Amino acid sequence: KKTENQILVIFGASGDLTARKLVPSLFNLFISGHLPENFVVLGASRSDMTDTAFRKKVVTESTYLEKKLEKLDKEKIEAFSNKFFYEDLGGSYDTDYTRLRKRVEDLKNKYNTSGNIIYYLSTPPTLYETIAQRLADAGMNTQNNGWKRLIVEKPFGYSLETAKQLNKGLQQFFKEHQIYRIDHYLGKETVQNLLVTRFANSIFEPLWNRNYIHHVEITNAESVGVEKRGGYYDKSGALRDMFQNHLLQIVSLVVMEPPISDAPEDIRNEKVKAIKSIRVMKSEEELYENTIRAQYVASTIDGDKVKGYREEEGVDANSTTETFAAVKFFVDNWRWKDVPFYVRTAKRMPTKVTEVVIHFKTPHHQIFKDSGMENRDNKLIIRIQPDEGILIKFGVKVPGQGFKVERANLDFYYSSLAETYVMEAYERLILDAMQGDATLYARADEVEAAWEFVDPILDYWEKGKDVRMYGYAAGVWGPENSHDLIDGIGEWRNPGPH
Ligand code: NAP
Repeated sequence: KKTENQILVIFGASGDLTARKLVPSLFNLFISGHLPENFVVLGASRSDMTDTAFRKKVVTESTYLEKKLEKLDKEKIEAFSNKFFYEDLGGSYDTDYTRLRKRVEDLKNKYNTSGNIIYYLSTPPTLYETIAQRLADAGMNTQNNGWKRLIVEKPFGYSLETAKQLNKGLQQFFKEHQIYRIDHYLGKETVQNLLVTRFANSIFEPLWNRNYIHHVEITNAESVGVEKRGGYYDKSGALRDMFQNHLLQIVSLVVMEPPISDAPEDIRNEKVKAIKSIRVMKSEEELYENTIRAQYVASTIDGDKVKGYREEEGVDANSTTETFAAVKFFVDNWRWKDVPFYVRTAKRMPTKVTEVVIHFKTPHHQIFKDSGMENRDNKLIIRIQPDEGILIKFGVKVPGQGFKVERANLDFYYSSLAETYVMEAYERLILDAMQGDATLYARADEVEAAWEFVDPILDYWEKGKDVRMYGYAAGVWGPENSHDLIDGIGEWRNPGPH
């Protein structure tokens, strides 16, 4: 696809995300020749910085680019660095953008970038609507002389109500098709590969339903705690930070019906339908039985003492924010009726892993009585990170007399496609937005549908009767009670480090 000439304006350009993710992604796109010929980046924030200082901060003296720059000659580094400019907003994002507009126009004329502009909102989310409004006030949202797109960072709302307000707020100034809500999980190759695995093969889809699938398990485990983000995390928690967005996005790709084509709207229509078919839990009983929250408590990992969540910097000493969340739910449609889904996400787990496990049913009639394969041993495991790949577990005959069966693995690693360069999530997503492809961005109705499901859980955890906050020692697979959730169905698959 062709990438048209354009300007990328980053709001919040003095921040962490710009230096850590956005600029390194642009760098990779530059090296691989994916940036358009005429292209500049204009950073905008409240901080007072010159173009040179900005270039130093995010490019030439950036710790995130250091290693990559070492391999390049000076001219190439300069060619990249010279694409960056900076404009301060004079102390507030809620201000008149006339000066900013003038700067954008000057850059456009000088570098012949055309009137195509992406505005990337990388500020605290409370400012998103204000920035959109101020852009509109300055006439910077009009599409008469080139397209305008708005990339919005997570979190996208704090609840259903706030997500709706934000959607409505942004849609006053930008049309839905101009708004790109980023969910970096969708930028991951293995997440996209879920679509390919299901819809480019004929060997999985016929089995992908209640007749053959016993249950579905999705785990997102991080080995780290909240690190330096305690203050931010304490206002968010596992359900808001991971489940509402990234994990429900993965669920939607597992659950969705085959789209009629790979066109963005065809795929997104099916994803919305999938999320809407998740049964919303309404009664306290349901919520009590199907959800578990917990916090990590102080412990020792590999001989090192680690703090409990409530002792972390920025975290309230009586915090009721969860660092572990596990939810069981059902999908009310023809394909998935009565198939339970188990989804959990947590910090301070024994390892870092994100995976989807499809547990197939035991064969209807097992003729190998002592095979040891009576226990639903057929699994399809999609490893989203790290060591991206796909693993199929099946039974094979043990050589020798009789029919003894042993479990075997068919294991595919993405890294074995060594010659193929795998783009990082942000890199892929930024390039898609530059090309106007919104397939991997979340649409307003999708985000709201996800909140519809999550809101009652949050509400119950905040105010419900009998709600418990369990503890788990840092470095174990969550609280004991999380086993109760899956009890009678199986056990959580607790993968070791890959
Ligand atoms: P950040 O460093 O905290 O903030 C970005 C910039 O926003 C700051 O450099 C600051 O610039 C401005 N800012 C910060 N607090 C402000 C306030 N109270 N009022 C006005 N301006 C303020 O954030 P970030 O980590 O770069 O993240 C940016 C956005 O991406 C956030 O919405 C975040 O939730 C989201 N996000 C971040 C990450 C990540 O890894 N960092 C991952 C996923 C999503 P000036 O003071 O110079 O204006």
